[in-house]
Parts: sequence; C-alpha cells; structure tokens
Amino acid sequence: MRKIKAQYIFDGSRLHKLATLVVNEGGGIETILHNTTNETACEEFFNGIVCPGFVNAHCHLELSHYRNRIPQHEGLPQFIKNVVKLRGSLSGELEAMQAADGEMQQNGIVAVGDISNTDGSFSVKQHSSIYYHTFIELLDLFNSNSKEFEYGKKLFSTHFHTMPLSLTPHAPYTCSRKLIERIALHANEYKYPLSIHNQECEAENEMYRSNSGTLYEQMFAADSKNSETINAKLPFPQYGKTSLQTYSTWLPCNSHTLFVHNTHTTQADIDFLKHNYPDLNYSFVVCPQSNAYIAHEIPPFDVLLNNKLNVAIGTDSLASNSKLNIVSELLALQQAFPNVSLAELLTCSTRNGAQALGIQKQFGTFEKGKTPGVVLLEHIDFTNMRLQNNTTALRLI
Ligand SMILES: [Zn+2]
Repeated sequence: MRKIKAQYIFDGSRLHKLATLVVNEGGGIETILHNTTNETACEEFFNGIVCPGFVNAHCHLELSHYRNRIPQHEGLPQFIKNVVKLRGSLSGELEAMQAADGEMQQNGIVAVGDISNTDGSFSVKQHSSIYYHTFIELLDLFNSNSKEFEYGKKLFSTHFHTMPLSLTPHAPYTCSRKLIERIALHANEYKYPLSIHNQECEAENEMYRSNSGTLYEQMFAADSKNSETINAKLPFPQYGKTSLQTYSTWLPCNSHTLFVHNTHTTQADIDFLKHNYPDLNYSFVVCPQSNAYIAHEIPPFDVLLNNKLNVAIGTDSLASNSKLNIVSELLALQQAFPNVSLAELLTCSTRNGAQALGIQKQFGTFEKGKTPGVVLLEHIDFTNMRLQNNTTALRLI
C-alpha cells in the first residue's frame, strides 16, 4: 500500500489540499484521506499536485515521422497538401512511433484516442503500456466508386478481437454522406465511439453552407482551372447549413462521437445539437497547439465549457505539434483563457478524456477500484493556482 501525500490531490474533478491518496500494490485506488495530520512511516510527500494519468483524446501516432517537416501557419488546405506530398518520401516511421509512444508515457499520458489510416502503428500500440483506442479513419473524397468502407471493414474484422477499435470518418470535407451513414450503421452494430475532425477551418463550413471556399474548390472545382483538384465523382449537394448542422444528422444514434478541433464551431452549432439531438452523446476535443501550428488559431474553449459540454484535450500528431504533452496543451489554454480554473483544465485532461473514450471505469478519476495511473505535476504557481512554463508531469504509478 502506498500513501501519497501532496500539496493537492486532484481526484478527476476537484482539488483536495494536503490530502493523501492511498493506492494498493496493483495500482488500484483505495481512497483519499483528508487533512491527514499524523504522519505514518510509509507516507510519501510530494511538493506538487497529484492527479490521475492524462488522457490524450486525439493523436495520429502513424504521422510521428512528420515531426518538423511541415511549415507552420499556412492554413488547413495547404497543410493537407503538404502531408499528401510528403507521404511515402519519409523514412523511420517505426522508430518515430516508438519514440512518440515513449514520449507520451514520460509526459504522464495513460490513454490515447489514436487515428490510423493503416495497420502500420498497431504493433507499437499493442506493445505499449498506454491504453490505445484506435479509430480506423476512412475517407472516400466523394468518389462513389470508392472501396474505402470495404477496406476499413476488413481491417476492423482482422483486429477488433485484439485491440479497442472503431471505424471513423476523417472529416466532413473528405467523406460522402453515404460513407458516414455506412460507418454509422457499423458503429451501431459494434457499439464503439466515433471521432471526426470537425470545423477545423471556415472553408469546411463554406463548403456545406454555400458550395464555395478553398476546400470546395480543392475537391470539386473544374479540372481545367486547377491541376491539383481532386476529381470527385459525386456532385456536392446544396445543404445551406454549417457542416456540423448537416452531418450530425447522419451520425449513429447509440454511439458516442468525439468532435475534434471545433475551431470554427459556434454557439448556433451547439444550440442545434442540443435542440435537435438531446440524446446524441458526444464530446468536444480541443487540440490548441495543433490549431496554432496549422493556422494560428485557438478553439472556442470557453464557449464549449460554458455550455457544460464534455470537453477533452488532444495533442493531435507530430505533423502539427512539436511535442505530445498534455501539460503544454493545458498551458496554451490557460494563457488564452485565463478565467478557466486549474481544476477545470485538469478535469478536461483526465475525467472528460476518459468519458470521451468510454474508459471511465478504469481511467480519469481517483475512485476506489480504478487503475487510472498516478501523475505528479511539479513547479505549480500555488499562490495563483496556475500552471507555469516549467510545470512538468512525472508518472508516479
Ligand atoms: Zn487529427
């Protein structure tokens, strides 16, 4: 039995001053003791905040070898072009994935929602001490002859007995309604969560609202005008609403959906979801440093929190981030939204992340019987209860 005392114990939603966390030999949480005054011989004291292991709700391990290869601040359409252009020309994929996995462990991350286009990262994930939920990401680029769904289903059937797995649509600007609806049926059958890149740039909304904008041009504009245009086979319907207000009606009714990024999600979009789909269960995942890297943007974190939504944190991949570190994502959010409390930030990165991935029975909070991992945050500004530039996470258990 370990008795871990610290300046504060954060239990997944609240901070407890000078409390003691009791953990058994198997890493299982026993209890939190409050105001412990009589020191016992086996008690350890830490000058920091002790919290459950972090959940990284959005990553692409298989893009780890893209680190430092893609220019910053060029916007999403250009970012995508750069990723596609570099595909196949880089080496060292396996080593980069192993290093990224090790980096996340070191930074106190215990569970990851990870996007995969192929099975290339599966063995790294299966041999890791981190819990991975893998989302097999599908996109058909509006091509009605695409065999993408069949490809995904085959990959799913081969591996779903051995690892937590979903099929998932990439984004509203690369997936046809038919593909999203086929995935939705599959998700209802296998009862897994979905994850979709949502409203990461305004061009996605323009595509759905008015059949215009950079992404629409890239996907559908006449070939003669633009040699790089992806020759979509399906005409794009006129929906007249934002992407989220359109495709959310195609999602499975019984599965949890993770909306990722949301940099161009507005109150009207949230109201639409709340009024039209009160039973749709969903989480909003923000990846602030990735948005800063790609487009110098920040998600509307305060709006999402004010709506009492389940907001979780992701690092995104090393293609659009210099590190895979939840503390540095929280620091970016703290700087942009100074009114958000440290307890709220930590809740997003622990309890809410576990809720988003459906792993709350094991992860996210210090409750009896769970094995969420135990992380020490050091170098906290205790006077103002803020993270600092030198705040670090250290895995204790
Ligand atoms: Zn992503």
